[in-house]
Amino acid sequence: MNRTPLVVGNWKLNTSLAEATALTEGIVNAPVDGVDTVLCPPFPWLVPLAELIEDARVALGAQDCWSEVRGAYTGDVSAALIAPYCRFVIVGHSERRALHGEGNDLVARKVGAVLSAGLIPILCVGESAAQRAAGDAETVIKAQLDAAMDTLNAREISQLVVAYEPVWAIGTGAAATPEDAAAMATLIRHRLSAKHASAARTARVLYGGSVTVDNAADLFATDDIDGALVGGASLDATAFNGIRRAAMT
Ligand code: PEP
Repeated sequence: MNRTPLVVGNWKLNTSLAEATALTEGIVNAPVDGVDTVLCPPFPWLVPLAELIEDARVALGAQDCWSEVRGAYTGDVSAALIAPYCRFVIVGHSERRALHGEGNDLVARKVGAVLSAGLIPILCVGESAAQRAAGDAETVIKAQLDAAMDTLNAREISQLVVAYEPVWAIGTGAAATPEDAAAMATLIRHRLSAKHASAARTARVLYGGSVTVDNAADLFATDDIDGALVGGASLDATAFNGIRRAAMT
C-alpha cells in the first residue's frame, strides 16, 4: 500500500501573526510533489492563515480541541468551531497529557469529537524515559492507542493519523533511532490492523521527536513511518521544507 507521506508542523505557543504569515508563505511557496503538509499554528492564526493557503497539498491543523461541542467549558475550543478553517487536529500531545493532566479517556473522547466535526485526528502516543527504561514502552503505547480506537469504525481508522512521539525525544535533540522508531510504528500498525486490517493499511503513522533535516531521510526510509510530526524545526521554513523534501518518495 502506497500511503501519501505526511509532514506536520506543530508551532505550539510560538509565532506572532506576522511570523506565522511569513512562515506559511515560506512553506506554500515551496511546493513539494507527492507530500501532504499540515501546519498547526496557535488557534487565532487559523483564521487568517486559511485565506493564504491555496495549495491542496498544504492544510491547516489545530493543536488541540475540547471533547464537547458546546457548554460551560471556559477557555476551550470545540472541533466544530475550528472546522471551517482546518482539516486536522492534534490530540493527546504529550504536553497536553503532562501539563493539563489529559488521560487516555479524555483523549479518546477528543478523537471522537474531531471525527464528528468531519476533521482528521492526529493522535499522539508515546512513552516517557522512565517507562522505556522499565521495559513498559509497548504496553503504554498499546493502552494509549486502544483507548482511542475503541469506538472507531473501519472508515475512521483508515483516516486516522497516529504520531509516535516518545516523550524523551521531544524537544531534546535526541531523536529515536530509525530502528526504534520503526519498531514502534510497526507495532502501532499491527494494533490498528488487529482492529480493522484493511483500514490499517491506509492509516498514516508518523514519527515525532527532534526530527531535523539531517535525520528525516533515515526515519522516512523505514516501511511503517509515513512522515513526521515536527516541533522545533517546523518554525524555520528552510528546515521544515528540507524535511518535507526528505519525505518525497
Ligand atoms: C512535538 O512537540 O511534537 C515535537 C515533535 O517537537 P520537536 O520536534 O521539537 O521534538
